[in-house]
Amino acid sequence: MTIHSDLPRCCAINGLNFGDGAQRACQRHMTPEQAGLVAECDRRARGVLTAPDNWPYGPNAEVEARRRMLDWADQFNLRHIDPSHVCPRRVEVGYCRKGWQCPDRVEGRGWSDHPTMWADRDSKETVVIVSQPYGLSEHDRAEAQAVADRHGLLAELRELGSWYGHGTSFVGLWAVGYGPHGR
Ligand SMILES: [Zn+2]
Ligand SMILES: [Zn+2]
Repeated sequence: MTIHSDLPRCCAINGLNFGDGAQRACQRHMTPEQAGLVAECDRRARGVLTAPDNWPYGPNAEVEARRRMLDWADQFNLRHIDPSHVCPRRVEVGYCRKGWQCPDRVEGRGWSDHPTMWADRDSKETVVIVSQPYGLSEHDRAEAQAVADRHGLLAELRELGSWYGHGTSFVGLWAVGYGPHGR
């Protein structure tokens, strides 16, 4: 992390990014408007996060990513889940007891950066795995599609429009009947 000399140490370490060139700010140094945005996200996050302030990587540090993530989760009626490992078997059959050594785990591959897993708020079933890599090569697309095919899921592959931001792409591996193809 770069610690800017003009930034209080508390903000550099515990601060949130607010985008639009605004400085990182911690709770104590936020403007009232910034504090309002954080409070609004916290309010909206009830029923979406597994615990207060347990934001996935990205939204944990960036308020704009929180808002994008919440918009997306509301659009598809989703609740974050925070499992031992992100695994397409969870979407396919509802569970996976193999733990972090599971050979199917989604992590550390070209297409599977910043992986998260989500359940439907009503059925409570795990319905989508999301990854948001920096770009999608033809090889990445083929790999993501192959994982979807192997587990009977639908692949949503988009160059842009991730909630993570920073120009990342969006990969959603959806249970049939959910997501942009569902309902
Ligand atoms: Zn501060
Ligand atoms: Zn697994």
